[in-house]
Amino acid sequence: MSDTDGKKTLGLRGAPARPGNVKQSFSHGRTKNVVVETKRKRVVVPKPGAAKSGAAGGAPIGDPSKRPAGITDAEMARRLKAVQAAKAREAEEAAAREAEEKARAEERERRRAEQEAKEKAEREREESLKAKAEEDERKAREAEAAAQAAAAAPAAAAPAARAPVNKPAPSATPRKTDRDREDTNKKNRGDDSRRSGKLTVNQALSGRDGGRQRSMAQMKRKQERARQKAMGGSVEREKVIRDVQLPPAIVVSELAARMAEKTGAVVKALMQNGLMVTQNETIDADTAELIIEEFGHKVVRVSDADVEDVIKEIEDDPADLVSRPPVITIMGHVDHGKTSLLDAIRNAKVVAGEAGGITQHIGAYQVTTDGGQVLSFLDTPGHAAFTSMRSRGAQVTDIVVLVVAADDAVMPQTIEAINHAKAAEVPMIVAINKIDRPAADPDKVRTDLLQHEVIVEKMSGEVQDVEVSAITGQGLDELLEAIALQSEILELKANPDRAAVGAVIEAQLDVGRGPVATVLVQNGTLRQGDIFVVGEQYGKVRALIDDKGNRVKEAGPSVPVEVLGLNGTPEAGDVLNVTDTEAQAREIADYRANAAKDKRAAAGAATTLEQLMANAKADENVSELPILVKADVQGSAEAIVQAMEKIGNDEVRVRVLHSGVGAITETDVGLAEASGAPIMGFNVRANASARNTANQKGVEIRYYSVIYDLVDDVKAAASGLLSAEIKENFIGYASIKEVFKVTGVGKVAGCLVTEGVARRSAGVRLLRDNVVIHEGTLKTLKRFKDEVPEVQSGQECGMAFENYDDIRPDDVIEIFEREEVTRTLS
Ligand code: GDP
Repeated sequence: MSDTDGKKTLGLRGAPARPGNVKQSFSHGRTKNVVVETKRKRVVVPKPGAAKSGAAGGAPIGDPSKRPAGITDAEMARRLKAVQAAKAREAEEAAAREAEEKARAEERERRRAEQEAKEKAEREREESLKAKAEEDERKAREAEAAAQAAAAAPAAAAPAARAPVNKPAPSATPRKTDRDREDTNKKNRGDDSRRSGKLTVNQALSGRDGGRQRSMAQMKRKQERARQKAMGGSVEREKVIRDVQLPPAIVVSELAARMAEKTGAVVKALMQNGLMVTQNETIDADTAELIIEEFGHKVVRVSDADVEDVIKEIEDDPADLVSRPPVITIMGHVDHGKTSLLDAIRNAKVVAGEAGGITQHIGAYQVTTDGGQVLSFLDTPGHAAFTSMRSRGAQVTDIVVLVVAADDAVMPQTIEAINHAKAAEVPMIVAINKIDRPAADPDKVRTDLLQHEVIVEKMSGEVQDVEVSAITGQGLDELLEAIALQSEILELKANPDRAAVGAVIEAQLDVGRGPVATVLVQNGTLRQGDIFVVGEQYGKVRALIDDKGNRVKEAGPSVPVEVLGLNGTPEAGDVLNVTDTEAQAREIADYRANAAKDKRAAAGAATTLEQLMANAKADENVSELPILVKADVQGSAEAIVQAMEKIGNDEVRVRVLHSGVGAITETDVGLAEASGAPIMGFNVRANASARNTANQKGVEIRYYSVIYDLVDDVKAAASGLLSAEIKENFIGYASIKEVFKVTGVGKVAGCLVTEGVARRSAGVRLLRDNVVIHEGTLKTLKRFKDEVPEVQSGQECGMAFENYDDIRPDDVIEIFEREEVTRTLS
């Protein structure tokens, strides 16, 4: 029977009037009456396995049609009897358990009622207890308890508890319905683990006679109340361990939401880890991981790879590959004729080849050579586009045509173009242009190129060179043939029968058509109706328009097409991937958009000096770094302010909002917060309230004891070069209670470590009114009579400074350690 697991009970509760009823009660509070015998003596069969499983469904078990064949009514009756007997036995056991549970529930119910009624009275009584004699008090409570008990649970629990094997008599709890009982059982069950059987009903009841048990019960109630109070009224909420999806950067409040933790708690945890951030700021994944682990959740790092798994490159079967046209970019120095050459090729081929061909500038076009080879030209000359595409991950170009004017020479941009082509490992073809010009000297170009390790064929090298004129059209066909030849050598291949992958050549928001992108299909075939993701955008191909302005149904490898149907405008160089579903496309696009946003936010969060400076540099409008200076004496304050004013260049300037002498106060923090400025403390400290406010508001306070350090830090931040630095960690504070004179040692401070730890090896500063009086090391650290390496917070100790004697009661000793940290412009 399944009630052995304590989850389900199946009981036979034969009420005298209806002996054939099987009552099934389920732990979730549902009960069911099942008729197993009728008055007409019609013998019915329980559903096979019903008694065993205890999980009989709703079907009446007496359906004769379900009776096994060949069994007589008499036999059936016998079987039924046997089944019922077995059930009764099992039910008895179940009932016994239930009785005990019920008894407990009732006891609990009683105690709760008692507690509610007495809560007020008890408080008063607790006071009166002290005044009254103990015996009086006990008597009074006994009397009241008895009265309460009688009222709340009249004799119900007693028989059940004493004779737990008996079935609970329904009459024993006349005021309770089955439903009530189930409910209390449920509550009780939740409570069982806590009580773990230590306090049985018997004990609880017999407690009426003994004062000791009564007080125990009271104690327990008190504890229970305190616990519930501490838990904010909720009863033992179990900690849910979550898988927290963690992108490379995350906003604090979002992190809290993903962990289902309170934002305040997360901010606090971050502060405890030394990171002063507000809930709207972004932290990096490593920091977030620490916090997630601290809260006991599981980190699931999500990267592009995870979200974008659906568009993972599928290796094409070589058998599926067919050759594709080459994609050509024309590069060269300004005015050497790139645009003219592109136009010349296009016009020569398009106008000649296409009937009434009105050329459309979509960023790329295709031409067919006289030899029948199709070539795709990118219409955006120059290396800027080429590199920006490359940097976005789209290596589109197969062949670079390097244009050099024959009447000029190899120029700076020519060299740049050579370097770009080499870096991308894209083969080059040299077009020596303006050959029609009288001043043309193609051989000079060829020799010039040698210096840049471009050895053309005419110089017995490998790089093809063609003399052309964009104006006269001379040499154009040769150039195209040279490209075709190069393309053959490259053996460019693609699989037109797969989901399309392409690169955005250019994109804009068209007034009439919405966002439009020219996509050069790199592999597969892009078709109308395809769902795709492109950069941070997604869409469904509404229409495809080719370079001649014709609507096409599809575009295969190396074909440039205008794509309509985007939800937003992508950027040149964005990669387009066709996905199976719109949900996938949207998910990837959203993920990328969020990642980009997070990245921008991470770059934009400014709380620290470095970040402020980085922002000041990034944003042309913000060219000032505001700071607050507090120093120990007027002289140092002035020196710092002067030094600060000298820092800066055309881009950034340091502005001292306020400078002053003495401890850093709450007013300083307020001003710093309002202006988004950090506070530089020179030999001074923030008082306690200022420190708290700064922590809350995320105002950075930096402490220095050397002016150069302070100046260097600001300078370094201004130049964006923050190298490894020595960072101080305050590891403890001690306050001086008394000062003793010890012969041979000098003055010894009797201290109490108020915060952290005092360490013998650490550096120490003597603070008087939050101003640094002395900095040095300890000569001695004593606990009682012994020299000790460290003393923990809350303990008393003796400290003496090396080479320093001016110590007074109420001075504060700051204990610090130095560590080298690599600073980042996070
Ligand atoms: P880009 O800056 O490299 O795109 O150069 P352009 O195509 O704008 O050409 C710059 C100038 O050179 C223009 O005035 C063209 O007319 C001229 N030009 C370009 N190619 C030739 C050519 O083959 N012969 C002559 N004579 N002039 C040319």
